[in-house]
Amino acid sequence: MMAHTNNLTLLPNQGWDERILICRNDELVQVFIVVTDRYVVLVDTLINPATAQKLVEYAQPHLAAGRTLLVINTHADYDHAWGNQRFVGQDAAHPAPIVASLRCAARFAQPDAMATLRAMQEAEPGIFGEVRLTPPTVLFDEQLTIDGGDLTLQLFATPGHTPDHISIYIPEIATLLAGDAAELPYPAARTAEELPLMRASLHALVAFEAKTVLYCHAPTAAGPQLLRDNIAYFDALEQACRAALAHGMPSAELVDDADLIARVGCPYADVTPHTDAWRDVHAFYRTAGHAAQLRMMLAWLADSF
Ligand SMILES: [Zn+2]
Repeated sequence: MMAHTNNLTLLPNQGWDERILICRNDELVQVFIVVTDRYVVLVDTLINPATAQKLVEYAQPHLAAGRTLLVINTHADYDHAWGNQRFVGQDAAHPAPIVASLRCAARFAQPDAMATLRAMQEAEPGIFGEVRLTPPTVLFDEQLTIDGGDLTLQLFATPGHTPDHISIYIPEIATLLAGDAAELPYPAARTAEELPLMRASLHALVAFEAKTVLYCHAPTAAGPQLLRDNIAYFDALEQACRAALAHGMPSAELVDDADLIARVGCPYADVTPHTDAWRDVHAFYRTAGHAAQLRMMLAWLADSF
């Protein structure tokens, strides 16, 4: 795993609406501050109280005009929701409602949430030592609308990457905050059952035809095209896996990653655009990560064969 830091930088605006601020925690993740007439909305709380505090400091000047602080969790993963204790609970320095899906709150209660926290605290006590798992407090199932006055935030479920994931569309500025529902080079499903959900969520996102699409794990320049590239990636995987199964592909668990990719005949470079952004990704995405998506695709297709 990469080493984490508490660094947080505000990205210079590169053409998106100026009411959206993007803050970046080194190479790990970027989160958003949406400044509306009524609310200053933090979209995700980063990895710990220290990074959440820095995020609030970037939001602070905009709270001066009588605006209320609101917080959203796109999902419960550590890089998105481990700063929550800054906003909820006895020691919350900046009390605010945390809006998320019901499934997000449920994930905080699962035993593996605490196990993940303990493991990461042991590995990097300086970063995660003070984190207390703090579930969101205002919960919805499929959709929720926040009327900020000048801007409307439409929150909607985009399950797949995780079961609790939500994305946000802002119609007044045709801007989509995809979260982790799309990523460079591809969002990762974690189970075969979630793979079709994730692909359906990609189609739901592209249907907005948003002018601006911003992601938590992709350069701001990626734009709406990344949604289409993610869809094309999984379509190509499906095509290759269907052909492999039709030719009697053996059980995917029996072969190692490189072997599997060769046998399905689906190398990463063949199913992604040939540009620097896609070539320069971490090796994980070309081998282990890619093979994992192929395994899930094979498992999902085997079920429906
Ligand atoms: Zn993430």
